Amino acid sequence: MIVVLEHNIKPTDKSNIVHFLEDKGFRIREIQGEEETILGAVGIIPIDLREVELLPGVARVIPITKPYKLASREFKKEDTSIPVGSVKIGGSRVAVIAGPCSVESRQQIMEIAALVRESGAVILRGGAYKARTSPYAFQGLGEEGLKYLKEAGDANGMPVISEIVTPEHAGMFAEYADILQVGARNMQNFELLKRVGALHKPVLLKRGPAATIQDLLMSAEYLLAHGTNYVMLCERGIRTFETYTRNTLDISAIPVVKKLSHLPILVDPSHGTGIRAKVLPMALAAVAAGADGLIVEVHTDPDHALSDGPQSLYPEQFEKLMRDIQALTPVLSKELARLPETLSPPPAYSPTVSADQGQILVAFQGEPGAFSENALLRYFPDSAQSQPLQEFRDVFDSVLTGKSHYGIIPIENTLTGSIHQNYDLLLQYPDIRIVGEKTIRIIHNLIGVPGARIKDIKRVYSHPQGLSQCARYLDSYPQWEKIPYYDTAGSIAFVAREGNKENAGIASLDAARVHKMNVLKEGIETDSQNYTRFVIIAREELAQAQNRTGKANRASLVFSTANTPGSLFRALQVLADRNINMVKLESRPIAGKPWEEMFYVDVDIPEEKESFQKALEELSGVTETLRILGLYTVK
Ligand code: PEP
Ligand code: MN
Repeated sequence: MIVVLEHNIKPTDKSNIVHFLEDKGFRIREIQGEEETILGAVGIIPIDLREVELLPGVARVIPITKPYKLASREFKKEDTSIPVGSVKIGGSRVAVIAGPCSVESRQQIMEIAALVRESGAVILRGGAYKARTSPYAFQGLGEEGLKYLKEAGDANGMPVISEIVTPEHAGMFAEYADILQVGARNMQNFELLKRVGALHKPVLLKRGPAATIQDLLMSAEYLLAHGTNYVMLCERGIRTFETYTRNTLDISAIPVVKKLSHLPILVDPSHGTGIRAKVLPMALAAVAAGADGLIVEVHTDPDHALSDGPQSLYPEQFEKLMRDIQALTPVLSKELARLPETLSPPPAYSPTVSADQGQILVAFQGEPGAFSENALLRYFPDSAQSQPLQEFRDVFDSVLTGKSHYGIIPIENTLTGSIHQNYDLLLQYPDIRIVGEKTIRIIHNLIGVPGARIKDIKRVYSHPQGLSQCARYLDSYPQWEKIPYYDTAGSIAFVAREGNKENAGIASLDAARVHKMNVLKEGIETDSQNYTRFVIIAREELAQAQNRTGKANRASLVFSTANTPGSLFRALQVLADRNINMVKLESRPIAGKPWEEMFYVDVDIPEEKESFQKALEELSGVTETLRILGLYTVK
């Protein structure tokens, strides 16, 4: 059962409730939700719920109707996110686990680890005890394999996962593996589940080839009931009458599990299909269907792999898969999980920053729930703290004076073009540099006060861009008055304050959540290809520290040329001669010099860093002014 506690419950009342239930043989888990605190009580003894309802401090009692309790959505409304080292699995990020089916040698796992890490995998896989169909097949290197796996993980800053096949190995696995995998064949090995659950470590539980989704959730319940809070489920194909593929990957399990359970669900397209060429399309389908991650087999020499070669990707194929997922995630309003590398720790230069040790402060323009805040929460680690400010200029000032470590500003939108004010500000703040970029999909929603319905609406507030980007939807309600507001999320704050059912605003789902408002209609933008590109800004010192890693692959430059025929052409010729790819060109009038222009150029930095340096030198020879706005990494 779920016991919802009253908001201001006294600690003594809470412990009385816990003792009462424990005396009756219930196991208790406390969950601090966003809106309420609840106790989850699981036991086998029937109890009259009214007895619990009468206890002081209890707001209400809800029975859990499903046979799985701790794993059910009824027990916990919010998605569970599982910390594994610096990675979190679940939530809005897609985490990719990759590596060979089996650890075959120290050299093999070291080599593959570095390659998958480079392509963007965040966790390294490798079997050491292999549950093989044939007793004559390679059985794994055992503990030696686990040692090599951990060594390869450590060398690349990656947590590792490996399959445990017997309860006796629990102690050993606790030492080497960050995630314990329970394989498909062992999904209902209940003694193994009990022992693994009791380690309190993250577990990846694979669906058995003949298991229903309910069977899978019941096995997850074993793990949870025996101690761990960290179970991720894994769909890896089931037995059907189809013989073309090794198994039939049940993509529909993803939305089904999402409805029934709060636990993250990953997909294994390698075992799910058994055929290398089918892995990429099924991996993308899984991500599109809402999977929280993938576990993929990759091998440098699949033809000679000791297990599962035919389904193992070549490193180049894996790299392509990662690029495709990267392109797909913004459509789903998700992110590819990354190991930390893009950000230096907050610098010591700024005595005015009032942050806890190691915390990153990021300024944005707008109210809480603004698209800029959404972009920054997606770019920075979860520990970053966002700081709402009124104007774009305030964001620059906050970064310049060291009140925040970073700032984020929108720079262009696919429908409405460049945000010129921010181009101009980049020029006006010479001590500020671009250090990163983030593109997010913009989805607009019609948002009203709780209880309001579409037929109640008379007025709609939003930023003029929000109104114009939803013109087609708004045109179907000509009777509504459309009122421009300075900010999308701000319009929701205003509608919330007014509390009038006749008012609505247009903004992000985050804005509705922040202000506890009601979403009347999701996705009302006219064109769904609506993306905004943001750039991350920081002081020059921090930018320089970051550039020392030498990983930057994009440069933003700005220059002016003489007002003579062919001068822009000569500047661009420098880039062309050195085979430097230009990805953007934008011109802005120079203040005080009517009809003269500054040119903003984004280029890909070639692998050959020296040739880029040479190009910059030549460019400064053929331009009047030249500034580097930033050197940064684009994923
Ligand atoms: C594996 O991941 O290597 C494996 C054996 O998977 P499954 O248990 O899904 O067959
Ligand atoms: Mn395998």
